[in-house]
Amino acid sequence: MSSSTDAPTVRLDGVVKRFNQLTAVDHLNLQIARGEFFSMLGPSGCGKTTTLRMIAGFEQPDEGGVFLEGKSVANTPPYRRNVNTVFQSYALFEHLSVWDNVAFGPRRRKVPEPELRKRVGDMLELVRLKPKATAMPRQLSGGQQQRVALARALVNLPAVLLLDEPLGALDLQLRKQMQIELKEIQRTVGITFIYVTHDQEEALTMSDRIAVMSEGILQQCGTPEEIYERPANAFVAGFIGISNLLPGEVENHGVRLQTGQVVPAEIEPSIPAGTTVFLCVRPEKLRLGAHEQGLVSVEGTVVETVYLGTATQYMVELAPGLRLVAIENNVHTARTDNRLARGSKVTIGWLPEHGRVLKS
Ligand code: ATP
Repeated sequence: MSSSTDAPTVRLDGVVKRFNQLTAVDHLNLQIARGEFFSMLGPSGCGKTTTLRMIAGFEQPDEGGVFLEGKSVANTPPYRRNVNTVFQSYALFEHLSVWDNVAFGPRRRKVPEPELRKRVGDMLELVRLKPKATAMPRQLSGGQQQRVALARALVNLPAVLLLDEPLGALDLQLRKQMQIELKEIQRTVGITFIYVTHDQEEALTMSDRIAVMSEGILQQCGTPEEIYERPANAFVAGFIGISNLLPGEVENHGVRLQTGQVVPAEIEPSIPAGTTVFLCVRPEKLRLGAHEQGLVSVEGTVVETVYLGTATQYMVELAPGLRLVAIENNVHTARTDNRLARGSKVTIGWLPEHGRVLKS
């Protein structure tokens, strides 16, 4: 295939990678556009890093092809691919200053000195480390070291930057701050980022699109909103955010719950009556004590309340072993005047379109 500016920056075509008996990546098809912030999300061992390593060229697929900017890279070694990787361990050159760490790549590529100085200066400006240009890596905080690693990769102006859990070593607060910064940096440079993480919140915060993987298989690929609001299956619903997955059976344009009640729900034509399903409703979509017309409603007993500051989380039992989690913003309520103490009987309502029926 010839190179084309319209081609996706990265294309994976039926990629398979096996390690002995284990299929780490199973017939993966992905197309990642120029300038996209694309995340690969899934639990440990689902094949995210292996996929990244195949794009970088550190692993070869057993089947299928990897294409960069429209060209097969089957015979292109890692150092000839227009790709850079940032790892969780920053792997900075300890004996070089911040400036020399960032200048390392362009120097090796024999970029002329005036251009090199401009590029390194711009990158340090971008990651807000210009005042630290002469510092040595050991004199920097974890977040600053990670920013040097980022600048060192971006200064080469790769077509794709691969990031493998780059914030994994940082504490939560710094991690959250770096998520916002990373997204801003990506927007500024316009380079395609492929970001590997097992942290769903991180993926939702930063990504244009997310690929959710499990056991080497792509489960769903879409925008954060699509993945969260319209999960393709119970795995995705359970992995992204908190989900209430009520088991039931399709019946009469609704779902018969284990309580015997049939609740209305939108059922795809491909799911016939009698199919065992999960009715999936997000906790924040549930309205406690709601009796409005048009809402689906069920009755239950509050068995636990957890005060979360901005919201209160309620665990409501519909029947023994059948529980819903509801989250209510603390707009009016506070812990002291909590209107729904444990043991309270409560009606829970939701809009029918907020109940998603997923095959179990
Ligand atoms: P994590 O988040 O823990 O890094 P991951 O989703 O990135 O997980 P991979 O590192 O891609 O997962 O691994 C996928 C599977 O392939 C795992 O079961 C892993 O043990 C296996 N695997 C990865 N690399 C090798 C290897 N070089 N030899 C044998 N098995 C491997």
